[in-house]
Amino acid sequence: MIDVPEDTIAFISHPKAIMHQMPFPKPHLESFENPLRYQIAERYLEKRGALDRTIRIKAPKATVDDVLLVHSPYLVDTVRILSDIGSGQLGESAYASPDLLRTALLATGGAMKGVDMVLSGEVKHAFVFMRPPGHHATTSNSMGLCYFNNIAIATKHALKNDRIKRVSIIDFDDHHGNGTSEIFYANADVQYISFHEYDYENFGLGHYAEIGQGEGKGTNVNIPLIEASPDISYDTAIKRILEPALKAFKPQLVMVSAGYDAHYADPVGNMSVDSRTYWKFGDSINKIVHSLNAVGSVWVLEGGYNPFALGPSIFASLEGLARKPKPELEDQVERELNELIVESNIEVIDKVLETVTPFWSKK
Ligand SMILES: [Zn+2]
Repeated sequence: MIDVPEDTIAFISHPKAIMHQMPFPKPHLESFENPLRYQIAERYLEKRGALDRTIRIKAPKATVDDVLLVHSPYLVDTVRILSDIGSGQLGESAYASPDLLRTALLATGGAMKGVDMVLSGEVKHAFVFMRPPGHHATTSNSMGLCYFNNIAIATKHALKNDRIKRVSIIDFDDHHGNGTSEIFYANADVQYISFHEYDYENFGLGHYAEIGQGEGKGTNVNIPLIEASPDISYDTAIKRILEPALKAFKPQLVMVSAGYDAHYADPVGNMSVDSRTYWKFGDSINKIVHSLNAVGSVWVLEGGYNPFALGPSIFASLEGLARKPKPELEDQVERELNELIVESNIEVIDKVLETVTPFWSKK
């Protein structure tokens, strides 16, 4: 075993992660998931020296067989064929480009590499800074800017290791990770905990009543927060739901769908958090990993569409994960607190606990 200091972080990226781009101008939703968000955020992290403290690794390419751990052959073939053609639509807000297949395979390969490095003991944590994102991709459908579900594939890959019997996936992207949720919905070995913005007027997927099925009942934990939720609501949900859920499930590995589009300055999400919440996730996940004696955590980039907010947000997560104090960053500005939203979220959190915790004790 290589002797590494406690809490070493691998930072996995690739210069070719910028290759795929959907052919849309602003203000189309598709235009926000672009190479620029990647380049500006990476430059910010480099300038702040955040990456000097990490082990930098180039993402390897996944194989088609790896992708088939989760996805249907039909989905994989469609991505391949449309990448060869160079254009075409795969699903809602999921379009091909000539470089789609190779960029998507690198993103998946990066997530798997993060798992390998953590499982081998080379590092305690890995941050996979790759694109396109993955958590909306279901078994057979690409959608919502996502093609291959990187975190789901990496989780299945981790479960092939004899030491790993249970994996928790924490998803704090602004949107419900419908793909990841579907893939593991009846799987008792994978716990999925999602913090997301929820539209209580047009009920869609991501409601707290979705708690998993069959053997997997109680392992799907949705935390559907109200639009414009502030940092304090995330803080409360971390303390009252995330920490007890992980303690009840006792994962050997923690995976994180790290989406940063709940940031108040994000053009896609409508929440009201800043980098302080992203530090909190890093700090809290670090502590849980240690208290549960888990092998480590693997973070996989999902959303985050304001390039100038993405850098500070990831920086704050990395600081928390490295047990550094909460940094003061340029995006941390005072915003008006809506007490009604805070109170309503407390009711939501109570409802989540009331619905799902009865299934935890049976484990
Ligand atoms: Zn999102």
